[in-house]
Amino acid sequence: MAEHVETSLLVIVLDTNPAQRIIIEEPSKLQHCVECVIAFANSHLMLKPINKLAVISSNTESSTFIYPSKNTNESLLGSRQRDGQYELFTHVERTVRENLQCVILNSQTPKIGTDSLIAGALAMALCYIHRLEMERAVGVKMNSRILVVTATGDSATQYMNYMNVFFTAQKQNVMIDVCSLDQDLGLLQQGCDITGGLYLRIPQFQGLLQYLLWVFLPEPPIRKKLVLPPPVKVDYRASCFCHRQLIDIGHVCSVCLSIFCRFSPICTTCHAVYKTPGPLPVKPKKKKPKLG
Ligand SMILES: [Zn+2]
Ligand SMILES: [Zn+2]
Repeated sequence: MAEHVETSLLVIVLDTNPAQRIIIEEPSKLQHCVECVIAFANSHLMLKPINKLAVISSNTESSTFIYPSKNTNESLLGSRQRDGQYELFTHVERTVRENLQCVILNSQTPKIGTDSLIAGALAMALCYIHRLEMERAVGVKMNSRILVVTATGDSATQYMNYMNVFFTAQKQNVMIDVCSLDQDLGLLQQGCDITGGLYLRIPQFQGLLQYLLWVFLPEPPIRKKLVLPPPVKVDYRASCFCHRQLIDIGHVCSVCLSIFCRFSPICTTCHAVYKTPGPLPVKPKKKKPKLG
């Protein structure tokens, strides 16, 4: 019987939006973040020689694959050993840095307050995973997961895109891990919970690499045996389709399940027409028996 080969594919979605609060305060933090992510990615490749890696950069305009490059094989041959470093590591580092530089140089100055297109980057990651899954050799089992590293908030404007991505990932058996560098992220927390991934908002930016290696490097089957940060309580509020705001209570279309914060006689998504709710029937008051 043939031996079972298991490989692990890690797709990292790196938020490189320069309008992130921590980067505006201290621009060198982006470089520190990139260095940590490269070290983390190389650690993943070091665990097993057949492990696979992809890195997607995401900002307010677009999401781009920064590793692997389109012409991976050529550049891998081109990368020479440097200071005795394993060629693949040098290659990963160089490719990520070069492509990231292109992305940053080509992007416009972002408006403060616009959020990165994380949901789109997640969709690209899922497509990539799906393609490798199709190309996979017989007898090879591939465990795939996505790690999002971001300091921008997830906003409800991308609510539908997020939900579509989360449930697709769940169906494809792809885990989504999230490492937040700044604030708590409500929607991405839901994504981790839906797909069985881990969510961590790191308490100290300086320790980023340590958190990545400790929490996000172990493969999902091993995680059960480790003492990891306890799961967070997930805020499962949905966003209304009319104003993209998170709401506790709202109206749900009985036909297409769209959510609205206010009643409207026609559903703006599927154009179903509802009856206007009339005034509640008033019970006739019972006459008090008159005494005497
Ligand atoms: Zn609304
Ligand atoms: Zn509807």
